[in-house]
Amino acid sequence: MTDANINFIPADSALNWDEYFMLQAMMASFKSKDPATKVGAVFVDEKRHQITMGYNGFVAGIDETKLPWGKDKSVSLEYQKYGYVVHAEANAILHAPRSLAQSTAYVTLFPCHECAKLLASVKVKEVVYLQNKHEGTESHRISTKIFELTGIQTRRLVLDTKLIEKLNHHLLNTLSEA
Ligand SMILES: [Zn+2]
Repeated sequence: MTDANINFIPADSALNWDEYFMLQAMMASFKSKDPATKVGAVFVDEKRHQITMGYNGFVAGIDETKLPWGKDKSVSLEYQKYGYVVHAEANAILHAPRSLAQSTAYVTLFPCHECAKLLASVKVKEVVYLQNKHEGTESHRISTKIFELTGIQTRRLVLDTKLIEKLNHHLLNTLSEA
């Protein structure tokens, strides 16, 4: 005798796709050494397969002990992090194994204008972001203009803190079962 409902347990994922990929972007940002601003980015294709990810850091392979993490703009650019840091989106794009055309970029911070240029050039379809702390700056206005002129959609994602609590619980559970 067979019953289609034998051992049937209703189950649901703890998170949706937006949350899943933004958490990955947040995990990438966690790897950044930048003491002030840690940013992560994940690019996803139309089939919801992750293509590449990145976080902000100094030029790959460079002797980091010789470079400053400070962002004091009263000294010359040569002595600021800005002279040497590659942004999360740029790192993800540089390490992409295939085309990013029509992909969705999940970023923890709304892209600066330099990254907006790259995102538009690789023909990203959509940018989903978490924070927007530079809204109102010239860089933000340029990014917005680039996205508008190239037809890139932008969307802010709000993550429920309850999701982070659930994730924390899950991670601790995973460890305790080791
Ligand atoms: Zn940037």
